[in-house]
Amino acid sequence: MNDQPQYIDLQVNGYAGVDFNREDLTEQDFGRACVRLREDGVAGVLVTIVTDELPRMEARLRRIRDLHRRDSIVRETVFGIHLEGPFLSNEPGYAGAHPMRSIRPADLDEMKRLLDAAGGLIRLVTLAPERDAGLKTVRFLAERGITVAAGHCNPSTKQLGAAIDAGLSAFTHLGNACPVLLHRHDNIIQRVLSLRDRLTICFIADGVHIPPFALGNYLRLAGFERTVAVTDAISAAGCGPGTYSVGEQTVRIGEDLIARSAEGSLFFGSTATMPRMAALLREQVGLTDDEIRRLLSDNPRRLLQRSSAGFSRADAAENCSNSPVGSRAGSANFKSSRTP
Ligand SMILES: [Zn+2]
Repeated sequence: MNDQPQYIDLQVNGYAGVDFNREDLTEQDFGRACVRLREDGVAGVLVTIVTDELPRMEARLRRIRDLHRRDSIVRETVFGIHLEGPFLSNEPGYAGAHPMRSIRPADLDEMKRLLDAAGGLIRLVTLAPERDAGLKTVRFLAERGITVAAGHCNPSTKQLGAAIDAGLSAFTHLGNACPVLLHRHDNIIQRVLSLRDRLTICFIADGVHIPPFALGNYLRLAGFERTVAVTDAISAAGCGPGTYSVGEQTVRIGEDLIARSAEGSLFFGSTATMPRMAALLREQVGLTDDEIRRLLSDNPRRLLQRSSAGFSRADAAENCSNSPVGSRAGSANFKSSRTP
């Protein structure tokens, strides 16, 4: 690839055979995954750490933090951490692949433990606002410049509006992490879309989690100013069919390259890469290069810039040399020829 890396992916669980949720993640493997990301045109990612028991989550966050301090390619590629869970909805159908036994209501002390373990790297937290009593956690995070997204949740419109008033500013992978069958009108998708002017809405644009025609409808309604496409990639991204892991859980990748839970009933992240998503958005959703650039680079960059005050404070002491929002990729062009 000749051009500068340019994509920014806010949700990456693993890549190129490397699972970022392993407690024994090695510097060599993490570095190798980062090199592959850059070869695929990715300027920066948020490594996603998913729900598990608290000590396990802390151990994984510490591991990412330590490797980030140690390795320059990791530091250059990993702009921070997206903490997805454990404060999610326990209503049937909203947990997705997150283990129900470890999901719980928001707890400010637990949140502080997770933040400490990550040493200032957490830039984005996905939680269920209706599980955050008094919206204490939302407020605490937003005040520290950490972007708070709703996701894996089922708040009423009023609850979601109150969370936005308290500082919540995004929604994670709309159209997924909800039951297959919903009320025809009053459902989480319609509620979020009704508040679209106040939220950055993220979608998994792999063509599998949302059919391209529905994704096109969502994007055209929500507009291209504040929407973001993420891969939600797992370790199988960039690899072939087989069995992979996300933390303690097993994921099967079929010949169709769709990631499913071991029993085959749930999508479990994706095998998408950013170049593949760009091609799909162009060819199957019919977007222009400008619209694709906004979804895959400009808008995720802006979301991170909004949280960069908190990052700078936390990381100043770490003498982190890279820009947390990857300024080097800022002027890259999105040309059709760049994607396969
Ligand atoms: Zn999720």
